Amino acid sequence: MWSTGREVAAGDIVIVWQTRELIQPLLITPGKDFNSRFGHYRHSDLIGIPYGSRVASRNGRGFIHVLRPTPELWTMALPHRTQILYLADIAFITSWLDIRRGSRVIEAGTGSGSFSHSIARTIGASGHLYSYEFHEARAEKAREEFIRHGMQDIVTLTHRNVCKDGFTVENLVDAVFLDLPAPWDAVLHAKKALRKDRPTRICCFSPCMEQVMRAVNALNEAGFTDITMYETLLRPHEVHQLPTPLPLSHVIDKLKEMEKYREEKRLRQIANNKRRREEDSDLSEPDKRVRTTEPNATQDESSLQTPLISDPRAKVEVEEQSVNLSKVCHEVRGHTSYLTFARLVPYAPETLESAAQAPVPTDD
Ligand code: SAM
Repeated sequence: MWSTGREVAAGDIVIVWQTRELIQPLLITPGKDFNSRFGHYRHSDLIGIPYGSRVASRNGRGFIHVLRPTPELWTMALPHRTQILYLADIAFITSWLDIRRGSRVIEAGTGSGSFSHSIARTIGASGHLYSYEFHEARAEKAREEFIRHGMQDIVTLTHRNVCKDGFTVENLVDAVFLDLPAPWDAVLHAKKALRKDRPTRICCFSPCMEQVMRAVNALNEAGFTDITMYETLLRPHEVHQLPTPLPLSHVIDKLKEMEKYREEKRLRQIANNKRRREEDSDLSEPDKRVRTTEPNATQDESSLQTPLISDPRAKVEVEEQSVNLSKVCHEVRGHTSYLTFARLVPYAPETLESAAQAPVPTDD
């Protein structure tokens, strides 16, 4: 899709990461400048630098990171023309709809193309995305982007009101995703578009419960089964790195070492004092006064009172052993919409016929 080169080249779309909240796409055009509150940059300065580089501004105001686009980064950076799907929902929908390499998928509407980029990468060149948008300007803008991002062979974008006119394919796709104000009006059209040689799946994305109820009714009436509704909520975890408390066995060993050291010291002091007393008995009075200013037992003892943690060896171990702890935030964020999923299991008359003709087992 996007550039696969190691270095940024003229004409590439790059993602300029300034802060978590300020992420922008940029088309590298020699001769143009990029200005933000994080400084002044010339596009030509970015040409030839490896993707992922941190670039300092020309006027010393800050720096930016220049990243290779991915669908995830595109969702974070894209120009919003509508409400968009975010990564938590995209990942969940992709998984539940069983979208994979080679899948044929319908999405309506295209909107800002956030979902389309992720799906195009998942299905790859062996799959196909049929995307529908009834707002002409939006459809045109999305088409331009798909071409610029090299997705034109994977995505077919049709300007169309799918609730009124249905889809352009029949009996073909593996999955349908409806992100529309009135998905129930497109359910029967979706049924037509889904292939009938194997079970297929559908998802309706609706922001409120009344809309969910209408979608569920429409799915039920159209013969979809396993209707299930989910809501994706985000619960952020704050992660901190803290020093691990020393294990108890380690503390006990340290205390034993200290005790042994203290005992040796005590015995040495007794021996020293004894020796001094013996020497003192041979000294004159002034000499004895001089002797009292020398290091004494009290100072030595104070060094033993040093807390265990300040022992240089213990310190190193505390620094080396750290643990990641996470604190769960009580606030749960992330509701964008409810996801209503259902399956369409093909009715297979031949299977039922052969089952009916099979001899019924009897007890004798
Ligand atoms: N899923 C998109 C994304 O991730 O960027 C956002 C879709 S946006 C919320 C819904 C889009 O559906 C709008 O662009 C709207 O114009 C389009 N739409 C609404 N009703 C439609 C219809 N009957 N047929 C086709 N498109 C429709």
